[in-house]
Amino acid sequence: GVKVHFPIKKGILFDRTVGHVYAVDGVSLKVEAGETYGLVGESGCGKTTLGRSVLRLVDITEGSVVLDGTDLAKLPSEEMRRFRRRLQMVFQDPLGSLNPRQNIESILSEGMVAHGIGKDQEERREKIKSILDKVGLPSNALSRYPHEFSGGQRQRIGIARALVLEPDVIICDEPVSALDVSVQAQVINLLEELQEELGLTYVVIAHDLAVVRHISDTIGVMYLGSLVEEAPSDALYAEPKHPYTKALMSAVPVPDPEVEDKRERILLTGDLPSPANPPSGCRFHTRCPWAQAERCATERPELRDVGGGHRVACHFAEEIESGKLGLTRPTG
Ligand code: SF4
Repeated sequence: GVKVHFPIKKGILFDRTVGHVYAVDGVSLKVEAGETYGLVGESGCGKTTLGRSVLRLVDITEGSVVLDGTDLAKLPSEEMRRFRRRLQMVFQDPLGSLNPRQNIESILSEGMVAHGIGKDQEERREKIKSILDKVGLPSNALSRYPHEFSGGQRQRIGIARALVLEPDVIICDEPVSALDVSVQAQVINLLEELQEELGLTYVVIAHDLAVVRHISDTIGVMYLGSLVEEAPSDALYAEPKHPYTKALMSAVPVPDPEVEDKRERILLTGDLPSPANPPSGCRFHTRCPWAQAERCATERPELRDVGGGHRVACHFAEEIESGKLGLTRPTG
């Protein structure tokens, strides 16, 4: 039930709240230990804000984030520090998230010192060396600076920075989208190897469906601050049930030209509405090719179980699937 609403401030001193950006508007999901949960959606759908809310890097307006029975949203900051070691984040832009004036040893030691890991710098250095080895970087990287590394290597440093704190959960926010395609697979493979070796739990946030499919056990699709569909990765790709997911999937090219030519395309009309002024009822009704005037514009659909581990927030998922419901807008 997580909500993150950012106030829109006006006035000379920005002292008047004139509205809210409903960045995350009531999302409920569960991530099992050891699994990879992929969170997808176009930019501005709230996926990054949701990831940050788990670490309390943004304030949660309402709802709970429960780790092993403890509600992190209600913890005093001092106690949250203890939990923060267990929850780490790998950021999209490896260069932007690494201080250019610090060498790698200093960058990786910082969190260890803050969390009391290692009795002295000698012990911390040994640990850092072993983690650098795990992520495929030479130990002489210690004295070098971020600009001396390639994009892929910098992302490995970002991953190492998370790993030195021995986390249970890593939230990877667009972990490969800033990297060349040739390097993306290497970083994804590294994340998978580390998960197997260390028993990590991942939440992978991405707009690229191909990346998420490769790495995720479960996928959640977000639209305008809401989770609209959730399913095991294979089921979601084989049979997307929400109209928005169907449209996202139909935009992914298939390498086989014969299949590609015959595929049904669902082109959405209209722009993504503003999260400061989301549509009533189903958030997707202004663009949905199957929207039904009355119910869809007034009643917000709950995320409901439709079998096979599939959850969908659409009043008419079954009718759309069976073909009983006709299109109300062209699909391109
Ligand atoms: Fe489309 Fe209505 Fe389903 Fe929303 S509830 S996705 S508008 S059919």
